[in-house]
Amino acid sequence: MADEGYCMKCRAKREFEGQVVTLKNGRPAAQGTCSVCGTKLTKILSMDAAKARGWSA
Ligand SMILES: [Zn+2]
Repeated sequence: MADEGYCMKCRAKREFEGQVVTLKNGRPAAQGTCSVCGTKLTKILSMDAAKARGWSA
């Protein structure tokens, strides 16, 4: 499942294959890299969306 995030370096939206991670504030996010420049992309997920992808708090 592809995620979509904004790449600050390309200044464009990029699709990426995100890994579900937990941020410092306890919220889930999908993290991956821009396929064009390799910059790390993060997309904040809702709790429900993250749980559907196997995330647990
Ligand atoms: Zn990029």
